[in-house]
Amino acid sequence: MEVRIADNAGFCFGVKRAMKIAWDELENKSENNIYSLGPLIHNKQAVDRYKEKGLVEMDNLEEIPSESKLIIRSHGVAEKVYTESKAKNMEIVDTTCPFVKKIHDIVKDFSHRGYKIIIVGNPNHPEIIGINGWCNNEAIVINKLEEIDDITFDPTQIYCVVSQTTANLESFDKIVQKLKTKINNLTVKNTICFATKERQISAIDLAREVDCMVVIGGKHSSNTQKLVNICKDLVPTFSIETKEELEKEKFAGFKVAGVTAGASTPDWIIEEVINYLKEI
Ligand code: SF4
Repeated sequence: MEVRIADNAGFCFGVKRAMKIAWDELENKSENNIYSLGPLIHNKQAVDRYKEKGLVEMDNLEEIPSESKLIIRSHGVAEKVYTESKAKNMEIVDTTCPFVKKIHDIVKDFSHRGYKIIIVGNPNHPEIIGINGWCNNEAIVINKLEEIDDITFDPTQIYCVVSQTTANLESFDKIVQKLKTKINNLTVKNTICFATKERQISAIDLAREVDCMVVIGGKHSSNTQKLVNICKDLVPTFSIETKEELEKEKFAGFKVAGVTAGASTPDWIIEEVINYLKEI
């Protein structure tokens, strides 16, 4: 079978960079453990590889011994994680994506200048928790347009709105338009990163030129399932996490298969799938 791969598949720039930095640290590690706060990414196979290499995952900073090495994930952390780990003499390996770091800087700067911060995004996502931690966790977090109706805005206050990097541009614009009807002095910082959008556009382009699509990524990964739905509308689509889920007979009659992958899918899993498909 001929196999074509989407232009933007798998890890985005920020995740690729973070995973490489973390891997290099593990390659050169001494006998001491290296820690991360939570999983580096939401991909079990990839995370297992890092664990085998010596990465220890912890949920709280308090659990990590003083003077250890701590890897900060690509979606960043609150300012207090830096101060608390410094107080414990820990060595920080900061893999925060530069696009996320930019939001931390904006939020810190504007809150110091007296602005009330509004963050558009999912309040439970680690990226949002981290961003809020750069303005003393005092931001207003808005996930859905309707939530604005329940918020009382102070007419004497100046506000600055930022977005989660993976926010949908259309939803962000709608929220900003509604906020403008309620707030006199609103500074808008569109901090959306277009890696997700680019991945979706590449998937659509590829699905239009192949007989079927294989989308690799977690069944619970929202960006992967979004790719699955986009492709399904155009061609028969198979959603898998690893090559083991592929069933040869299901590809009978297809000559050209397209492959794309969610943001947490490492290259080696994509390559395994491509090689398997080529052999069909
Ligand atoms: S999606 Fe964008 S902001 Fe998030 S890690 Fe990737 S490149 Fe960075």
